Amino acid sequence: MRGILTLIRPLWGRCPACGRGRLFKGFYDLNTTCASCGARFHQDGSPTVGAMLINMFITMLLGFIGAIPLVINTTPDTLMLALLFWLVGLALFATVFYRFARGLWVGITTLTGANEEESS
Ligand SMILES: [Zn+2]
Repeated sequence: MRGILTLIRPLWGRCPACGRGRLFKGFYDLNTTCASCGARFHQDGSPTVGAMLINMFITMLLGFIGAIPLVINTTPDTLMLALLFWLVGLALFATVFYRFARGLWVGITTLTGANEEESS
């Protein structure tokens, strides 16, 4: 149950560890640590790459699944226009979903312990 909460809390912009602190300081900008419990949200550079991969995978999956009924149910005359609207919709989706992908990536790295400082 704790693992599921660690993944769900950052989707709503809350700290994955405690659920009280704010994860974002802007729409996309992450805070470095939680103001409530002090948990680290990311190492340098790590939230961007992981979130981009999640965002790209989900958008491509949605685009592929959504294009199948579009191609089957659309006449050849309107297919190009329908695909154009579908691509614009996917671009808007990817822009908004990136915030949630960043939150999900912070939840994954918190769950795996990747955000903890190394003690050497
Ligand atoms: Zn916290």
